[in-house]
This record gives sequence, structure tokens and C-alpha cells, in this order.
Amino acid sequence: MAQRPTLYNYGSINIDHVYRVPHLVKPGETLASHGYQQVLGGKGANQSLAAARAGGRVAHWGQLNEKDRWALELMDSAGVNITGVDLVEVPSGHAVIQVDDQAENAIVLFGGANQSMDDAFVTHRLSDAVAGQDWLLLQNECSLTADIIQKACAQGLSVAFNPAPMTPEVGSMALEELALLFVNRGEGAALVGLDEHEDAERILDALMARYPSTEIVLTLGGEGAYYQKGTQRLFEPACRVTAVDTTAAGDTFIGYFMATRLAGQSDAACLTRATRAAALSVQKEGAHTSIPSAQDVDTP
Ligand code: ADP
Repeated sequence: MAQRPTLYNYGSINIDHVYRVPHLVKPGETLASHGYQQVLGGKGANQSLAAARAGGRVAHWGQLNEKDRWALELMDSAGVNITGVDLVEVPSGHAVIQVDDQAENAIVLFGGANQSMDDAFVTHRLSDAVAGQDWLLLQNECSLTADIIQKACAQGLSVAFNPAPMTPEVGSMALEELALLFVNRGEGAALVGLDEHEDAERILDALMARYPSTEIVLTLGGEGAYYQKGTQRLFEPACRVTAVDTTAAGDTFIGYFMATRLAGQSDAACLTRATRAAALSVQKEGAHTSIPSAQDVDTP
């Protein structure tokens, strides 16, 4: 009997340091913070957690400083296979985040261990994945992203890419071989050189013209999401909810979509389940703490 497919996620693991401040620090100012929290973050870790909470078989590939083991334990206890994560001496990827009393924020991001994966790491991990069965998911927060996409496609893996955060390098990546591309409105528009206020269907048309053999998911925040494969186009409106914090909405959506896809469900079912999960996530504060359980998503 064929083995259940694995979703390998080559992704960032960040430690977010969140400081509550009366106002964002001005140049030259020293300001006392009235609250501090250290939390697990990074698009990669969030998407792995979402896929695992959705019931998927997910294995994360990445790097983290050995002092931040607690973050790995958290992923492990959520059901993510972490044997492909190396503990290293390089500082972990991290974000220093100020949040002021008006909920305005300012963020300094340091790539750290996420940016120090090398060729040997990539080659070794790719040898674990089975062509024609397993999937590779990536975002744009780790070193060698373009390289691993190319190698994984050549190896016959199904590759899903979420080019977030969007950088100029993405435009020159070989994305034609992707099985699936996840973009929000801004990322989608940037990929095809359109303004992000352009009509969503025009953005999708341009993406399909550029990547005709790739399945494309275009998310539109509180409006909903499109899915297209060839000439089949589906639209799922977002659930009408009161959003309190949209951090990780896209990550929740992608994790749930991928886990549902690997479970063999239809494209429409993937879209609906991902939409329900993301709507639950925006009703809660925080990143990984807002990713819902499968039970909450699947209970009508
Ligand atoms: P990202 O977080 O990557 O920018 P989006 O903002 O497009 O992605 O959101 C991803 C998905 O999350 C949307 O397609 C939608 O299903 C859901 N979502 C986002 N914002 C809301 C909202 N205000 N209300 C309900 N669902 C939302």
C-alpha cells in the first residue's frame, strides 16, 4: 500500500520579541516598555503548525539556535515532525516588534539561522522526499529558496510556493514548474507587474497567462479567495466575521489548504476548509496562538 504523502515545509522559524510601548521609539530616544512577550513566529513555522492542526502529516525543514529549543518543542507537541530541523550556533531568526497603545507597530527582522541553510542541508533534506508522492511547501524567508524550488521540481516533487515576503528576486525565480502558487493580492499583482488595486480577476488572468500549468490560489483578505487550475476557476467568499487581528490569516489558510489537499479532498473542499480556518484565526489575537484546531474548523 502506498504511504501517506508527507508535506515537507522548508521554512522560517522565528522568535518574536514583542514589546508594548506608549509610542514607537523615536531616533535617539530610550523608552521603557510596559510589557514583553517572547513568542514563536515565522511564516514557515506558522504554516507547519496550521497544516499539523488540520490533521496533515507535516515535516519541517529549517534551522534554529540551540538555545531556542522551546520553540521546537512547541512545534513537536502540535504534531509537526521536527527531525529535519537542525539546532545551530547561529542566532535564531527573530523579530523585535514594538506595539504602541494605538496598536501601531514597528518591526526589525533578522534572518539569522533561517538565512544560513546551505547546499549540503538542502541536498540532504531533498533526498528524504519521494517523487510523485510527497509535497514541498516554501515561503520566501529562507536562504537558497530559488535553488531548492528548482531542484525539487527537477526531482519530480510537487512544489507549492508562497512568495511572502515578496522581494525583487522572486521575479527571476523559475516558477513555471510549480504545482501550486499561493499569493495574496499584493504579491499576485507584484508578480505580474500590476497595481495591487487592479481588479482581482485581471490579476488572476495575468498570473494564469504567466504560469499556465500551475494551480493558483489568490487570497483577497476579507473579500475571499480564488482558486484556478486551467480553465476551472472557483471563488470562495470570506466568512463574515469581526476580525480582531489578521496576523497569520494567510499562513492558516495555506496550512489548511495543503493538509486538505494531501488528504485527497477536492479543490473546492480545500478552498472552503482553508477559508473557514482563516476566518477563525482572524477572530483571535496573535500568530500561532490564533491557528484553530481541526475540530473547531470542521464543526459546523
Ligand atoms: P495574507 O495574510 O497572506 O495577506 P489575506 O489577507 O489575503 O492573506 O487573507 C487570507 C485569507 O484569510 C483570506 O482569503 C480569507 O479567507 C481570510 N481572511 C483574511 N481577512 C479576513 C477577514 N477580515 N474576515 C474573514 N476572513 C478573512
